[in-house]
Parts: sequence; structure tokens; C-alpha cells
Amino acid sequence: MNDESQKRKTTTEEPAASGEKDGLKEDVPPAAPPAPAGRTERRFRESSLPSHFIERRKHPRIQTEPPPPPAPPRMEDYAPIIGVPELDEIRFLARHLQGKTVKMVNSTAVGGGVAEILNRLIPLLNELEVGTKWEVITGGNDFYEVTKGFHNALHGGDFTLTPQIRDIFLSYNEQNRQRMQFVEDLFVIHDPQPAGLVQAKVETRGRWIWRCHIDLSNPNPAVWEFLKPMVEKYDATIFSSPAFTRQLGVPQYLFYPSIDPLSEKNKDLEDSFVDKVCDDFGIDRSRPILTQISRFDRLKDPVGVIEAYKLVKKYVDCQLVLAGGGATDDPEGAAVLAEVMEAAGDDPDVIILNLPPWSALEINALQRASTIIIQKSLKEGFGLTVTEGLWKKKPVVAGAVGGIPSQIIHKLTGVLVHSVEGCAYQIRYLLTHPEFARQLGENGHAHAKENFLITVNLKRWLILFQILLGLAGPAI
Ligand code: UDP
Repeated sequence: MNDESQKRKTTTEEPAASGEKDGLKEDVPPAAPPAPAGRTERRFRESSLPSHFIERRKHPRIQTEPPPPPAPPRMEDYAPIIGVPELDEIRFLARHLQGKTVKMVNSTAVGGGVAEILNRLIPLLNELEVGTKWEVITGGNDFYEVTKGFHNALHGGDFTLTPQIRDIFLSYNEQNRQRMQFVEDLFVIHDPQPAGLVQAKVETRGRWIWRCHIDLSNPNPAVWEFLKPMVEKYDATIFSSPAFTRQLGVPQYLFYPSIDPLSEKNKDLEDSFVDKVCDDFGIDRSRPILTQISRFDRLKDPVGVIEAYKLVKKYVDCQLVLAGGGATDDPEGAAVLAEVMEAAGDDPDVIILNLPPWSALEINALQRASTIIIQKSLKEGFGLTVTEGLWKKKPVVAGAVGGIPSQIIHKLTGVLVHSVEGCAYQIRYLLTHPEFARQLGENGHAHAKENFLITVNLKRWLILFQILLGLAGPAI
């Protein structure tokens, strides 16, 4: 486990909540035997909570079937959100690119953040008449094992790069290069898996962009040295945060990840729907609700969140919702869920939800019902749950890791924390200073609107395409 979670140290800038010398150990309930994921029934201690809440908390009503996919939004649907002038600006930028063609390539059509982004971005580019095609590379299990190993190694994991592994990576990239045609004006290659397609550059008249969605700040040196010469063949590279980049001999651009304000996860909801979701899960909307939405992963520190909640609960009434997914098909997720259940013990106000992947509307409703959104990660990518919380005008309390400090300007658009005690202190402060909490939420929303919406991302693509095609002339 991460050092930080083991030490649980109090930082000097975050005073501990009073009474904290009670000690965390005393707060942890006696260990219960771990139970299988998804089917566990937790025992709750006697409480004054009405029985229907207890019943729902034991048996939350979770959607078992995926809902039909909604129609993709069109540009004009964004006008009420970003305003007509901003929309006009996007259309103006696109006009100079009309007739140009783009190919985007990644390694999967479904699942994962990149596919999700491309699913929204590509229809919008096409609507703007910037003809954009999406292609997915193919490979055998050996290729995906190698690229998964690379992914972990690029995040700093151990990895032995053998000649055979290099061959597998290069030969699948070469097969894909031969299968594909490269006739467009611009090629955008996402992440390391298809990075080798750049070998085709010499045969094309287009410009090549490598869009890196992962954090390269601390890569395994052997894997990075292998990939770097490929990356340096591109005309431009894009990273998601200044903290994620490496020294390169080619230009680097900063594109923050983005959320779609019209997606099921982020669109406005009727309050009656939020009520229904809370009712389905046994959440009491008349009392403060703290929520962390995250895969059940130790790096998201769900147990640390429970410890912080317990410190807060000594002084201020609240409920804690920990909602996540991935614990059914991932053995590690199941183990973490069991640890979370154990840490929650018999406290009826800790509501743990193992949600299926089609829960976007429910997650949206949970975020909207929350008094405070928590994302107490110990390591993080960009932290889209933070963006989602900011967009919903919620005060967000989050670990100062990965891309989170780009989103949270401490005490202006949210609060950054470094420890369980700091997290508890800030939650308690926000619960007892609702006007400050409201102001943080407003500021956070403005920050997200300015920087992290898909429309902002679209604008950046259009500008970069113009720069690379030499269309962005000096202002007159
Ligand atoms: N999410 C989800 N279901 C879950 C947990 C998370 O749909 O059970 C979503 C969450 O709303 C966010 C994304 O998955 O949009 C997680 O992105 P983030 O960058 O926060 O973390 P990651 O899981 O990529 O490390």
C-alpha cells in the first residue's frame, strides 16, 4: 500500500480536527470477515434511522439492465450552456478547416476514457464539417499484454523490456500500418499502443499528432527510452497536465481532459429524479451527504475517506456515500470493497454502492444530492470525478495529486488535502460554513466551464489543426 496511506500523517498547513488525539485506531471497528463482492449484506447497529432507510441500505435498488443510449448532442444544444458567442467562435474556427480531413486512432472502441471522449468529440467535428474518421488498431492477446505492461511501466511500475516484447509491439504496429490507409490531412494517434503508426509519416502529406492521455512524469526508463524516438517523430504532442509531460524534442501542447455537460453523467436533472435515486439507495436528503465516486481501488483511498468521515461524525451529523464499480469483475476491486465494508463496520450511515457500468444517471444524481464531493486519492490521473463535482457547483475536497491541483485552486475552487485529518478538518469546516461552501461550488463551476468542457477541448483541437496546417496566420 502507498506510503501516504500507511503513515496517515497530519500536515502542518491542515490543523487536525479538535479531539483528533482520540486516535484513528480507536475509531476502527473490530475486523469483520471479508465478504464476497456485490452480495454482501452488512449488519447495521441499532440506530434511530427510519427502518425504510435501513432496508434500502441493505438492499439498494440498483439498475440491472443498461438503459438505451441517448441521442448524441448537436452543436446548437450547447448554446444554452456556453452562450451563442462562444458557439459562433467555434464555428468560425471550424470554417477555416472545412474540407480538411482527420484520422484519429486509438486501441479500443468501447470502455475507457479515451473511447468515451472520441465518441463525443468526433460527431461534433463532423457536424462542423471537419471530416473526422475514427479507427481502432487490432492485435492479439500478446499485443494487449505488452501494451498493458507498458501502461503500468509508464506509470512507474517495474518492467523487463525484452527483445521479444519490443518485437511484439513493433510487429502489431507494423501490421496495422499496412492495413490502414493514411490519406488524411491530420493524424491523431492516442496513447502509446498505436504510437508506432508514425512510421507511415514519410509516405503521407499529413501532419502527425500524438495525444498522450497518461501521466508520463515517472516512467520506467527502459520503456520510455524505447517509445521516445517514436514520439519524437510526431509534429506535435499533447499532454493532459503540465505535470504529466517529459522533455521532448518536439512541440508539446496542453489539453485538459474534458466532460460533456450534456452527457447522462453531467446533464441537468429533475430534482424528483434525484429524490428517486436517493430513495432507491436509502440516502436521507434531509441530512448532509458526503460522497466519493470511485472505482474500488486503494489509490482512491476509500478507507481513508471512511476514517475522515468518522472523525467528522464525532462533531457534525452526516452520511457517507461510497459509490464505485469494477468490484465484480476485478479481483483487486473485490478485495478493496471487502476492506471498505470492514472499515465501515456496522455504521448505518456509511452507504456503500457497487454500481454497474451503466450508472451514469445514478452517479449524476448522487453527485447532485451531495453536500460535499470527496476525492481523497493518493495517486490520480486527471480526476474526472473532481471535474464532475465542480461542474455541479459542489464544494470538492480532494487529494493534491495528479491533475487535481489543476482543477482545485485551494480555497478558491475547492479544497486540497494531504491526510485523513486534513480531509476531516476541511469537511467539518465546510459543513459548518455553508456560505463558504456555496461560494467554492460557484467558483468551481466557473473554473470547469472555462477550462474543462468538451466545447473548450473542441476549440483547442480546431486551433491546433489550424496551426499545424499553417492556416493560423498572423492577426490583421
Ligand atoms: N465512474 C463510473 N462508475 C463508477 C466509478 C467511476 O462511471 O463506479 C466514472 C466517474 O464518474 C468518472 C470516471 O468514471 O467519470 C472516473 O474517472 P477518474 O478520472 O475520476 O478516475 P479513473 O477511474 O480514471 O482513475
